[in-house]
Amino acid sequence: MSGNIGGLSAPRAGGIPAMVAEMRDCEQCGISFVPRREHARFCSPRCRAAWNREHAGDLKAGTSALEWSITAMSDTTERLSRMTAEDRPRAFAVISEAVWWVTIVDATLVRHHIEAYDRVMARHTPAERQRVEENLAGLRFVRNRIGGEADLAEFVQPGDSGPDPGDGQITGWKWRPVREPKLASLPPRGQPWEMTRYRAYHAQLAGHTLGQTFTRAAAFLKLAAADAPALTNASPQRDEVLPSSSSP
Ligand SMILES: [Zn+2]
Repeated sequence: MSGNIGGLSAPRAGGIPAMVAEMRDCEQCGISFVPRREHARFCSPRCRAAWNREHAGDLKAGTSALEWSITAMSDTTERLSRMTAEDRPRAFAVISEAVWWVTIVDATLVRHHIEAYDRVMARHTPAERQRVEENLAGLRFVRNRIGGEADLAEFVQPGDSGPDPGDGQITGWKWRPVREPKLASLPPRGQPWEMTRYRAYHAQLAGHTLGQTFTRAAAFLKLAAADAPALTNASPQRDEVLPSSSSP
């Protein structure tokens, strides 16, 4: 009788349900949390703020990266709006550059200025917010695919060069519907995010013009960047302003 250690069996290894939500560890406190965003790094705003305080140098680097990527994004989307369809290879080059810069600015804002990003997002109605979010997610889908095996031509339907010269603008070209991505090559936890981006692409990009997509994306990202405090407050960190008493 004394040898009986009780009727409870130890939990079996590998018994985690297959559909468990993705968990990751907070970079500040190490606690596990369910990320609300694909690239979420912290369990709470408090941990994000603490991390930011300890990494002020990274934050400044992020801010200057944001400043020049905003400039590059604006230049590229403006160039896109002036381009005509005559030189198709160049048009495609500028479109992929625009995809690249929009997604870089988006990622930089999410990484370094999530408060401003969320604040500006919150000023939209729920329907607008969904449009903006899906628009950006759809562009991330394109960015990931053309960085891999896919070609931009699979995504962009060049317009006809109609009799009206205005028809030749590449901003009037449309995104094509595309086939569902093959998920097998992705790690399991990346697969739902890829499907979300794919559905967002179909909701907001497919059938719409490049002009609509880039105008909407750039408008939101510029607002969010303008709201990021470090961009408007360019004063140096306190520890850089040394008392001059010790200088010769
Ligand atoms: Zn945390």
